[in-house]
Amino acid sequence: MVTPPAPAEALIALRNLRKRYGGPGEGDGQQPEVEVLHGIDLRIDAGEFVAIVGASGSGKSTLMHILGCLDRASEGSYHFAGHDVAAFTADQLAWLRREAFGFVFQGYHLIATESARENVEVPAIYAGAPQAERAARAEALLQRLGLAGKLDLRPNQLSGGQQQRVSIARALMNGGRIILADEPTGALDSQSGTEVMALLHELADAGHTIILITHDRAVAAQARRVIELRDGRIVDDSGNHSGIAREGDRALPALDVAQAASDRGATFGGNLRESLRTALRGMRLNRSRTGLTLLGIVIGVASVIVMLAVGEGAKQRVVAQMGTLGTTIMYLGARGPASGGPPGPITPEDLAAIAELPAIGHVMPVIGDPITVRYGRADREVYVFAASQDMPTVHHWKLGQGRYYTEAEDRDLAPLVVLGHNTRAHFFPDVADPLGRQLLIGNSPFEVIGVMSERGSDSGAESYDDMVFIPYRAGRARVYQAQTQPDYTVVTAASVAQVREAEAAMRTLLLARHGREDFAISNPAAKLQAEAETRSAMTMMLGLVAAVSLLVGGIGVMNVMLMTVRERTREIGIRMATGARQRDILRQFLTEAMLVTWVGGTAGVVAGLLVGGALIAWGVPVIFSVTAMAGAFLCAVATGLVFGYMPARTAARLDPVVALGGQ
Ligand code: ADP
Ligand code: MG
Repeated sequence: MVTPPAPAEALIALRNLRKRYGGPGEGDGQQPEVEVLHGIDLRIDAGEFVAIVGASGSGKSTLMHILGCLDRASEGSYHFAGHDVAAFTADQLAWLRREAFGFVFQGYHLIATESARENVEVPAIYAGAPQAERAARAEALLQRLGLAGKLDLRPNQLSGGQQQRVSIARALMNGGRIILADEPTGALDSQSGTEVMALLHELADAGHTIILITHDRAVAAQARRVIELRDGRIVDDSGNHSGIAREGDRALPALDVAQAASDRGATFGGNLRESLRTALRGMRLNRSRTGLTLLGIVIGVASVIVMLAVGEGAKQRVVAQMGTLGTTIMYLGARGPASGGPPGPITPEDLAAIAELPAIGHVMPVIGDPITVRYGRADREVYVFAASQDMPTVHHWKLGQGRYYTEAEDRDLAPLVVLGHNTRAHFFPDVADPLGRQLLIGNSPFEVIGVMSERGSDSGAESYDDMVFIPYRAGRARVYQAQTQPDYTVVTAASVAQVREAEAAMRTLLLARHGREDFAISNPAAKLQAEAETRSAMTMMLGLVAAVSLLVGGIGVMNVMLMTVRERTREIGIRMATGARQRDILRQFLTEAMLVTWVGGTAGVVAGLLVGGALIAWGVPVIFSVTAMAGAFLCAVATGLVFGYMPARTAARLDPVVALGGQ
């Protein structure tokens, strides 16, 4: 059989198709409405080689965009293989563009940053073809079109004719059943133009449907059917008499349009890899811009980490001081009232009454003065601290050696002494066990029964290591005979939470007993507590400031992404024309935003650790928190997601024709 049966269903059927631009509901609604296609009726069958010819401005490109599902008609119908295209979703249209059409544009529309081979592969990426398969096919196509040696060159390294051949290879990548060529020779020299036309003829002979758009009658005359367009109307059609009926012609197998609905496109993983590759390339091509954006994120993340670590370090130092100094200690002493008059004596009865208060823990009167202490031939001025057996408890201080005196020994005026760490080293440098030795304090002999552990320089009570400790009553009887009342009294609150309450209760009690404020209470515990609270607030503040800088970094990402989308509008158009779905574009730009913040976040964590390390080397107390690090990193990535989403969605929602910039 020479003549195949005429297909019952036209491949493309347009009925009374109209296209209007402007008017309400488009753009800002301010443009007056113009109709550029005034009711087109057209039928094209599979395997035809059609030229649509017309003067510039006659509506050829508009018609091609509608035929290629890059744009929708305003009125009338477009049936593709019997299916009404108006009913197709955006994804189904993307499927049609990918599987049915191959576009060849006057300006080639290649992606400038990708090599010839990668440009040809693009449609297959969106179809979900495996990497190896699409690379092989792209190579084969390029070879067939005479570009074997040019696979890895970028568009700007190719001549116009070569670029057009790359775009034809791209059109054929997914089969290219219908080639839509809009002035494919318009920008070419006559030699290249002839070659491209020869290629189209070859494709037509191989069964592809070719729709060629041109303003050049000589070019149009090469087609088997010529349709003339004038001012948006078909004024002449040579008809389908030289179409598929030609001898030796064969149409490509028909496309099953029903598949469009169940299309899954590229798999998530495959697509993600492509997105990552594109994103990395984008980052590399815009190094300085990427660097600056990264810097914003790095500074943000690093400052969150460092600020919180420094804040926590400062807080912990205060807390540590509270621990060694005693978190509940207050000092009570006699002092002349502000209004004048003598300091009131703090009597044993006063102290007994204070000890009865519920918020009070210990009451420990203290006498202390530098006194000459002698052992053998060594002597030294030592601060002799006379207080009750509660001293180690009150100061949260452990014995290093031996034991402390008991209450009974204090009552019995026992001449016992416990040494501070440094005093022991001074008097007994070579003696392993000084216990049982006799020290002369003033003129009285005291027996060494213990040595305190070392407080050290971090405690804020370093000088305690230089003292010796004797029972209060023995001290009064044997060393401080002239003393009628304690130098001061250490009073502890019953608990850390009661520090302020204890101070207030003690003050009220003494005011009532003395009738005037002839005493003074100092409350370092409350001060430390207040300090710790301030530090916490500071940490919060610093963290907040740092978080704001992270936010600013995120806005930087958004800014750059918006710029990227604007710069790459045409690329987005090309990707859509070759079959990318909205979600493919969304994923690609989100990936780019996320990649920036991911890299920035990682670098920020590293930078934060380095800065923190430097601070530690400098002696600043720094405590890193894994939570803060993870939090800052996740915040950065989330920032990329949040601030990248808007630009990515903007990109995905672009109208393919608008993105391509018309033509
Ligand atoms: P051709 O490809 O035949 O040169 P086009 O299809 O590009 O013609 O344009 C046909 C007419 O439609 C022209 O008058 C052009 O100004 C107008 N036109 C094309 N695109 C738009 C648009 N986006 N908004 C308004 N008018 C447009
Ligand atoms: Mg045009």
